[in-house]
Amino acid sequence: CQASTDTHDTSFRKDDLPVHGVSEVIVGVLGGGQLGRMLCQAASEMAIKVIVLDPLTNCPASAIAYDHMVGSFDDSATVQEFAKRCGVLTVEIEHVDAATMEKLEQQGVDCQPKASTIRIIQDKYLQKVHFSRHGIPLPDFMQIDDLEGAKRAGDLFGYPLMLKSKRLAYDGRGNAVAKSEGELSSAVNALGGFDRGLYVEKWTPFVKELAVIVARGRDNSISCYPAVETIHKENICDVVKAPADIPWKIRKLATDAAHKAVSSLEGAGVFAVELFLTKDGQILLNEVAPRPHNSGHHTIESCYTSQFEQHLRAVLGLPLGDPSMKTPAAIMYNLLGEDEGEPGFHLAHQLIGRALNIQGASVHWYDKPEMRKQRKMGHITIAGPSMGIVEAQLKSMLKEEGSESQ
Ligand code: ATP
Ligand code: MG
Ligand code: MG
Repeated sequence: CQASTDTHDTSFRKDDLPVHGVSEVIVGVLGGGQLGRMLCQAASEMAIKVIVLDPLTNCPASAIAYDHMVGSFDDSATVQEFAKRCGVLTVEIEHVDAATMEKLEQQGVDCQPKASTIRIIQDKYLQKVHFSRHGIPLPDFMQIDDLEGAKRAGDLFGYPLMLKSKRLAYDGRGNAVAKSEGELSSAVNALGGFDRGLYVEKWTPFVKELAVIVARGRDNSISCYPAVETIHKENICDVVKAPADIPWKIRKLATDAAHKAVSSLEGAGVFAVELFLTKDGQILLNEVAPRPHNSGHHTIESCYTSQFEQHLRAVLGLPLGDPSMKTPAAIMYNLLGEDEGEPGFHLAHQLIGRALNIQGASVHWYDKPEMRKQRKMGHITIAGPSMGIVEAQLKSMLKEEGSESQ
């Protein structure tokens, strides 16, 4: 349950207290969404104290965090106040105040991963420049500042052309596709205009999307989770299959690219590397998240050490755990808001009801205060003896949903 600030002294007492449990260090997390919530769940197993900073009084992490400071993780004074109470400062979202994190680091605050990493990643264009400089293969890209520039990019890369906003993107909300030159200006408008800061990427006709969660410890040890396949619907992650059904050579290529990408960044924690697999067997980097990720939710049930526990181990300087799978296969299905308000809750609960009857299925509900269309409300993981079996179980769960709504 939530502790109030008055009853707990959450100041960092690394030096004046003997360690009785796993760690006395208080982990501060910028953001209290579902990732923060699942970090708190993992922390509770080892009695690690996690405090979160989030503007919503009833954010998903609030009910299970050791403490919740209500405030913006993008406000300098608030982040500085929060940092005073943390032994180590980490993030569950990259859209935080990187400049303040840099300042805090100069004052000796322990940020993991480093502010430099957050700064690079939160600007997707800067991220692309960074990774291409480090020799990591990625789709061609180019900054666009006006319609002329966008047309030049279209001439160079062809159509369809992917336009992206540099900042504040998630769940495809910063992406717009122009199928022809005539669609460029509407795509730009859909993203809020050139003032938002835009760039384009060459369209990648991938055969599969893959993701690799990579953990880096404070001693720079690196550990990679098995590559998974992610399936998106309208730019939002829908299903994750673990492990990905890919040849050994591709698995190695994907893991090596992910390892190399994370090695080029600074700081400890888990990172998710999103990749495209092309039909000629190339692996191209899409983007990196400097935190636990939707593609790693299955690890809670299917791996010896979940991505959330791994993140805590990494930022606290504990030995990294075993990322390998303890079940042959797992499939994760996101519970996205299908409708606003009550009707949406009703649909989700129908699905949850069915999942509770499926062997090997685990239901996660994030307890978000509001149901909105396409919002991630929860997820279901089915772990089992083979991909064929868990896929069939998921299919039957979803088929019933379709037939009922017809
Ligand atoms: P996330 O929620 O993963 O942070 P995001 O808003 O940052 O998403 P991206 O990961 O850039 O968005 O893109 C979302 C999806 O759009 C990708 O997973 C992929 O399916 C598709 N996509 C992105 N870039 C390209 C591209 N260059 N060519 C083809 N499809 C793409
Ligand atoms: Mg993204
Ligand atoms: Mg993405």
